[in-house]
Amino acid sequence: MPNSAKESVSDLFGSKVFNSSVMRQRLPKQIYKSVLKTINEDLPLEENIADVVATAMMDWAIEQGATHFTHWFQPMTGITAEKHDSFISPTADGKIIMEFSGKELIKGEPDASSFPSGGLRATFEARGYTAWDPTSYAFVKGTTLYIPTVFCSYSGEVLDKKTPLLRSMEALSDQAVRILKLFGKDDVKKVTTTIGAEQEYFLVEREMYKKRKDIILTGRSLFGAKPPKGQEKDDHYFGKIRGRVAKYMDELDKELWKLGISSKTRHNEVAPSQHEMAPIFTSTNMATDHNQLIMEMMQRVAYRHNLACLLHEKPFEGVNGSGKHNNWSMATNTGENLLDPTDNPADNKQFLLFLCATIEAVYKYSELMRISVASAGNDHRLGANEAPPAIVSVFLGEQLTAILKSIATGEKITNAKDLVMELGVKSLPSFIVDATDRNRTSPFAFTGNKFEFRMLGSNQSISGPNITLNTIVADVLEDFADTLEKASDLDAAIDALLKESVERSKNIVFNGNNYSDEWVEEAARRGLPNLKTTPAALETFLLEKNVELFGKHGIFTKTEMASRYEILLEEYCMTINIEALTTLDLAKQEIIPAAITYSKEVGESLLVKKNCSDAIDVTVETALLKKSSALLAQMYQAISALETALEGVEGCDGPQAEAYYFCNTVIPAMNAVREPADALEMIVAEKYWPFPSYKDILFYV
Ligand code: ADP
Ligand code: MG
Repeated sequence: MPNSAKESVSDLFGSKVFNSSVMRQRLPKQIYKSVLKTINEDLPLEENIADVVATAMMDWAIEQGATHFTHWFQPMTGITAEKHDSFISPTADGKIIMEFSGKELIKGEPDASSFPSGGLRATFEARGYTAWDPTSYAFVKGTTLYIPTVFCSYSGEVLDKKTPLLRSMEALSDQAVRILKLFGKDDVKKVTTTIGAEQEYFLVEREMYKKRKDIILTGRSLFGAKPPKGQEKDDHYFGKIRGRVAKYMDELDKELWKLGISSKTRHNEVAPSQHEMAPIFTSTNMATDHNQLIMEMMQRVAYRHNLACLLHEKPFEGVNGSGKHNNWSMATNTGENLLDPTDNPADNKQFLLFLCATIEAVYKYSELMRISVASAGNDHRLGANEAPPAIVSVFLGEQLTAILKSIATGEKITNAKDLVMELGVKSLPSFIVDATDRNRTSPFAFTGNKFEFRMLGSNQSISGPNITLNTIVADVLEDFADTLEKASDLDAAIDALLKESVERSKNIVFNGNNYSDEWVEEAARRGLPNLKTTPAALETFLLEKNVELFGKHGIFTKTEMASRYEILLEEYCMTINIEALTTLDLAKQEIIPAAITYSKEVGESLLVKKNCSDAIDVTVETALLKKSSALLAQMYQAISALETALEGVEGCDGPQAEAYYFCNTVIPAMNAVREPADALEMIVAEKYWPFPSYKDILFYV
């Protein structure tokens, strides 16, 4: 890289972010220190300090071209929300000055009534407030200063996805710090969970996208015959990135770098037109905000390149869908990765404690892990031989599994290749770090120094899965700390605890092929839940143990959980309802008329030939007419059946029953419309077909 390019990338990086280096430059020393304290120790910011910060922030933002500011929050819709106010303030002489107070920085009061609350907030009490989250930096996008905030109802109930995430990080930190104290690490004041979220997406030609009402309205194609070429040749994965896509990725990287997002890796994915980007990991809170910005930027930049970026979990049937890999670990404020096995024997037990706590947590609360990735879109992936199945399990690799087994049974390890180890944890071999055996089918895999949670859908906020992960691990760490703090012989107590924990949670560990039918049977024998659909998963949300868990760690009250449960069910039903209505619309308005026009042309040809002479062969026309008429009739019937099915929604007794109804009755009725339509697509001449086909869309860019 020439020097100028080197400089320009580092100049670019974070140039739109009010980060700590900008704060150091622009704030008086004392103020800067107290802001840092606020960030590092999660303390509230005093108002007089906030005034100084606000002014500095505004001055900086104006230099970046901002005229407005917004509190930026993450309501239960799973996307972000913003309401812009300008900095202008009138003066007595009829002019204006630019002003931004500490109060405006710290707190906002958007009307909360139009955001989903699951019955929490009655409409007469529509006020909600947002409060600055100084642990995620403010930034400028376009002409607006964005201030990351939490969002609550006036009476304090949580209405967003950030508040519980911050709480869960705190819960985990508290318990992890207790464990580290036992190892004499008194200098550890805080443990932060870290996330690197790999994001998959599709890029398609914008002109084609615009002709697909289904993709525009629902994010996915509701019709489309299988293309002659799919992904069977595996020629796309890690393949050469073509010019147009490369240009897109270049610009995306630059936009993300400006926002301080360390976009690092980019490559083509398995399906045609599918790609992936991964940033370097950072604190969970920041990574969550960043992932929202990444998804937004992917779409925005696509627009500029006459492309459309599809983030749906399953845009095309028969072609791999998109997911998001949530790489998760825990790091101390002293810079130690708690899931990093080291060569130092003294640290091995500590590593094993955190490892086993995570495994046990996933075992104990596997339903919650499943729920955290449940959505109508993701139901198309989980278990469909492209993404980990709906059964939650943990992959550890051969060596680590052997070590845990020896801890539990007391037997010496003699099998695993070059691994000959005495009982216990005297020294962990460093090759674990190399993670030699890679398993791409596991929902939750240990990959050397972190866990990779692979069930997430490409479209979802990573907040939910991490709230779950942090809270369940905090819970087991708390049990561990309770036991160990009482022990007179710490070493012996740790050995005993590890042995019990491994024994308790051994059923969740599976290193084989998660895509195989044998695993489904094996998992059933082990008693692991297989919650195949979103309604089935959600039904377990309010289990006593889950309510207790979230209550105990101060993440959600029972009322807040009930509201979230309702929102998730509603969201599911709404999604499928829109899909069903769009199916009807396209079938009736576009596909049937097109097929009829085509039939008419075939019929005319048949008549013309017959009029000329009975001797002319009309087998083709007759066959085509017969076939298309039969499919049209089948489709027409399926349309009526789908309409009837939708009328039946009214009769459902409550949201849970409604979700099951959409799942078991409406979805099959939709599929029944699609089947003859896709068959018609194969018959009807291309020029009559009302929208671009899979082969047009997938192999164009
Ligand atoms: P791959 O999974 O493709 O082998 P890597 O292992 O390099 O790729 O990393 C994938 C993602 O995991 C990246 O976003 C990376 O920053 C992230 N990651 C690496 N270490 C950690 C960690 N300690 N905590 C959270 N994420 C991490
Ligand atoms: Mg990965």
